[in-house]
Amino acid sequence: MESIIFIAPPAAGKGTLSKMFQDKYKIPHISTGDLLREASRGNDEDSKKLHEKLKSGFLVDDEIIMKLLEERISQDDCKGAYIMDGFPRTINQAKAYEKLLNNLGKNIGQVFYIGVDIDVARDRIIGRLSCPKCNAVYNELIEGEQPKVKGACNTCQVNLIKRSDDNVETFEIRFKTYMENTEPLINYYDNLGILHYIPEDMDKKTAFKLIEDIVTGGAV
Ligand code: AMP
Repeated sequence: MESIIFIAPPAAGKGTLSKMFQDKYKIPHISTGDLLREASRGNDEDSKKLHEKLKSGFLVDDEIIMKLLEERISQDDCKGAYIMDGFPRTINQAKAYEKLLNNLGKNIGQVFYIGVDIDVARDRIIGRLSCPKCNAVYNELIEGEQPKVKGACNTCQVNLIKRSDDNVETFEIRFKTYMENTEPLINYYDNLGILHYIPEDMDKKTAFKLIEDIVTGGAV
């Protein structure tokens, strides 16, 4: 199985698809957003600064991202395939990632670009809740995505939380940041011949199967 990179605007469903692969194939789901949120929970100045940056919706400096990422993918569970959710977000990060993979002797895998309609994405952000323990994502306003018990994670039973950047104002900044910095990656990976498109109206099950066929070479 090959590694997966998801490129998508906020709330396009990359977290949900990542979790589906993690559950079926027991491969790591690396979300740079989750890594950053974890790093921002400390009481020191750096953690507080990071917390404010995440709340703003703007991108965190490459230096911080690359350090966190290198630490994470050097761990034993990343020897095989893994899912990359939220990275790279700029051409600079994509280039730095290639260098890192070269140094570690790893392959990049396949890249999946998920389309999304800005109005649909905005609506999804409003009802989104996540588990602070396992990072599962729910939506209190969308049928089929609600937790079984209101406000609690299905798996961990802990109280679900609303992310500090899941509000309409920050969403607009995140979407604009995505269009300016991350969309150029689509051409970049297309030129490398590893880009695949998931239409925005494709249901998650079909999308899962499409991705699965590509990364397993149709072996399932
Ligand atoms: P996400 O959980 O992917 O929506 O990311 C939440 C926030 O974390 C983003 O709005 C950025 O501030 C930051 N972030 C996550 N991944 C990256 C990245 N690869 N580069 C820069 N900032 C990032």
